[in-house]
Parts: sequence; structure tokens; C-alpha cells
Amino acid sequence: AKNKGRNNYQFFNQKLESQAERYMLIQHGLHRALKLKEFYIHYQPKFALDSSLIVGAEALLRWRSPTLEDITPAEFIPIAEETGYIVDIGCWVIEQVCQTLAAWKATGINLVPIAVNISPIQFHRGNIKKALLKSTINHRLDPSLLQIELTEGVVMSGQQKTVQQLQELKDLRFSISIDDFGTGYSSLSYLRELPIDELKIDRSFIMEISDESSFNNPHLTAIPCAVIDLAKNLGLNLVAEGVETEIQSRFLMQKGCNVIQGYLFSAPVDKDRMWELLKEYS
Ligand code: C2E
Ligand code: CA
Ligand code: CA
Ligand code: CA
Repeated sequence: AKNKGRNNYQFFNQKLESQAERYMLIQHGLHRALKLKEFYIHYQPKFALDSSLIVGAEALLRWRSPTLEDITPAEFIPIAEETGYIVDIGCWVIEQVCQTLAAWKATGINLVPIAVNISPIQFHRGNIKKALLKSTINHRLDPSLLQIELTEGVVMSGQQKTVQQLQELKDLRFSISIDDFGTGYSSLSYLRELPIDELKIDRSFIMEISDESSFNNPHLTAIPCAVIDLAKNLGLNLVAEGVETEIQSRFLMQKGCNVIQGYLFSAPVDKDRMWELLKEYS
């Protein structure tokens, strides 16, 4: 028994060590990734069920790291936030998206607003307004083509300064979306006071809709339906995230949510493929 305990301890220790090592590798890698041009962006369309048109897209960051294979944003974004690199990375994403929009515009296709994810760190620390203005002016783009996705936690914090910051962006005609809505337990009455344009129903609620019998199961439908009603009554746009099946899209259509984002219509794709999709569906 004594030996076994010791082996477990060693195993535990090794695991901790390799976790710390990986953290260090990511941190070092991130430090150089911008300069070495290892980041790139994928786009995922938002698709309207009634018109069968693309009405927007979300920019999602990808990292081609020579040492860390298949590393996902879920793993590296939190480390970029802890180290503060996320501010520079976020500015880079905004600039890339504007460059891409300008290139698409030159080809004469119909443009749709592109959403960028803004980390709370960047929203509070970096000068997000300046970065957005710089890139949109540089590329002669209408600010309404850029959408800012902020998570519920940031937007609903109740701080006067946050509302003011959002209002400034809105006055410049950037559009504002609340990401992962329904997961943050925020005070709903507060939503009325915010200058926002869109709510995104979190994927976790959509995932639970698995078959027709889910449609009438209040345990599964209560939250998505409440969010749909809320958005309608407040005059906000609505998007359901992570829609993977016909059943889920049928559910959403029936309950009154018209715009979906998810693998059912398209996974995130590179910018050339996104251009082709836009050419066909906008
Ligand atoms: P998010 O903003 O909630 O983005 C949606 C995530 O869901 C994306 O994961 C997307 O690829 C994935 N997804 C879309 N449709 C489906 C579907 O039908 N099924 C499933 N299972 N997943 C789907 P991704 O690209 O791995 O990004 C993860 C998170 O990383 C994002 O969650 C966002 O919080 C963060 N992130 C990504 N890019 C950026 C960025 O440029 N800046 C910042 N600050 N965060 C980013
Ligand atoms: Ca998002
Ligand atoms: Ca989301
Ligand atoms: Ca999320």
C-alpha cells in the first residue's frame, strides 16, 4: 500500500510538471507568434433560416504553432489573457478582419458584418475604441460592418464605465453583441439599459435539444425560449450558437429564432472559402 501511494504521488507530480511545462511552452510561443505570423483567422457564417442568406460571420482565431500541434483557442486564449498578450492579439484580429473586408469589398460582393471576440482584459485595459477606429478608417470601412462580441460577464457587470464605453462604440456605429448569453446569471432588468444590438444563445442550451420530444420538455426549452422572448421584446437581434442538427434548427425556427451559427450550415472556414460562401449566399 505504501508503494502504491508513492507511485500515485509520483504520477501526480509528473502530471503537474508537464502541465506547468506546457503552460510555459504556450506562454513562450505566444510571445513570438504575432511576429512569426503564426496566427490566422477562420470565419463562421451566421445563416438566416427564412431567407437562406448569410447575415453575418464570426472571426475565430487560429494558431499554427510549430511546437504545439492542434492547439485550440480554448487553451491559448486564457494564457494570452493572463500574460496580457491578448491586447496586441486582439488589435491584430481587428486589423486582419478589416483588411479582409476591404479585399472582399473590392471584389464587389455583398458584405455582411463580421464579429470579433473582444476579451474582457482588452475591453477594460486596452483602448478598444482606438483600435477599431484606426483599422476601419485605414481601410475605409463603414463601422457598422464590425461587430463586437463581449461575454455576458463583461457587459452585465453593472459598471457605469462599461455602459459609457459601450455607448461610445455604439455612437460610432459599431454594433455590439452579447456572447454566450444565458450562462452568466446576470440581472436581466439591467439588459434594458444597455446599448446593444444582439444576443447569442449559448451552445450549451442548443446541445440539449436532441429530438422532437425535447420540443415540449420545459426542462430543456425554458431557457432558450425565455431568451428568444426577451430578445424579441427588447427589439434585439438573436443568434443561436452551435447548431449542429436539423432538429435543432427546426426547434429554433418554431420558437422564433431565425438566425443560426453552427456546423449544420458551416464550420469555421478560411477567408477564401468564406468569400465563396458569401458570393453564393448573400
Ligand atoms: P465562442 O466565441 O463562443 O465561439 C464559438 C465556438 O464554438 C468556436 O470555437 C466555434 O468553432 C465553435 N462552434 C461553432 N459552431 C459549432 C457547432 O456547431 N458545434 C460545436 N461543438 N462547436 C461549434 P473556437 O473557434 O474553438 O473558439 C473557442 C473560444 O475561443 C471562442 O468561443 C472564444 O471565446 C475564444 N476565441 C476565439 N477566437 C478569439 C479571438 O479572436 N479573440 C478572443 N478574445 N477570443 C477568441
Ligand atoms: Ca463569440
Ligand atoms: Ca459564444
Ligand atoms: Ca463560448
